[in-house]
Amino acid sequence: MWRWIRWLTLVLVALFIASFLPWSISSQAIALPDSLPAASPPESMRVSALPTGTMHSSAMLAFRGGNPLENRDFSMTAVLVQHPRGDLLIDTGFGREVDDQVKLLPLLMQLTTDYDKTTPAAEQLITQGYDLKSLVGVILTHAHWDHVSGLDSLRNTPVLVPTTEQAFISDGGDNSALARQLSADHLKSYAFVNKPYLGFAQQFDVWGDGSVVLVPAPGHTPGSVLVFLTLPSGQRLALLGDLVWQLDGITQLAEKPWIARQLIDEDTDAVRDAIAHVSAIAKKFPQVKLLPAHDAKAMGSLPVYPSTLR
Ligand SMILES: [Zn+2]
Repeated sequence: MWRWIRWLTLVLVALFIASFLPWSISSQAIALPDSLPAASPPESMRVSALPTGTMHSSAMLAFRGGNPLENRDFSMTAVLVQHPRGDLLIDTGFGREVDDQVKLLPLLMQLTTDYDKTTPAAEQLITQGYDLKSLVGVILTHAHWDHVSGLDSLRNTPVLVPTTEQAFISDGGDNSALARQLSADHLKSYAFVNKPYLGFAQQFDVWGDGSVVLVPAPGHTPGSVLVFLTLPSGQRLALLGDLVWQLDGITQLAEKPWIARQLIDEDTDAVRDAIAHVSAIAKKFPQVKLLPAHDAKAMGSLPVYPSTLR
């Protein structure tokens, strides 16, 4: 009899804990403005995607509480923002040496990494007749290898990071080794100003017209940023980098799985706070299209260069 009660108690406790797994982040009251920040993007501004590859994984390895039997693709995509003051590339996706770079990952990541690659972003642009001199900078959402790999074809383009990420690249260990190698002579840092943006205390408005606004979202790396884009049509996009790997992370308030957090998130509490913040933005302003860097479905909705979103 007692044995059964003990078993039943264990099962109930396990079910109780499991029920909380996907919802471990409490949605906090975040002070948000009543309307989206003002922006006056130039008529000729355009946004497009440059897909460079895909990693095949499962929902279980993508977010806490994900179904192990559900396949999820991780996009490796650079985003081109064409602007009359200068074009910007947000992250690079895979470069030419991706096969060798994968061999440098921790063994566990190598074993769970199955990927396809296409053509590096810079080569796609050149093939389409794009002049790389129009590109005035690569903005990194953060400096992990899969976001900087394509810098090997962009040796003359400044790489823009906040001072915190610059420090992570120069003093960092293995997680920023490739960024250190590929951006050493063209890394440039920028500073945020103390001006609120959608509840974030600081921002960097790249062209001063509200069309490309970066806000600090430290946690995944010390200098991770979110990129808010406002298009001439009024459409709003939020590039979330690796804050979450799939949109479910925001909609279900589910951080990355435990093992992934141990391997790559620098500050898990800060990541949870930023997830709660973005989730609050998503609820109040559902018109903002959220784009986690590796959510293949979300990123796949962007037109591929030379097609553009305006
Ligand atoms: Zn990544």
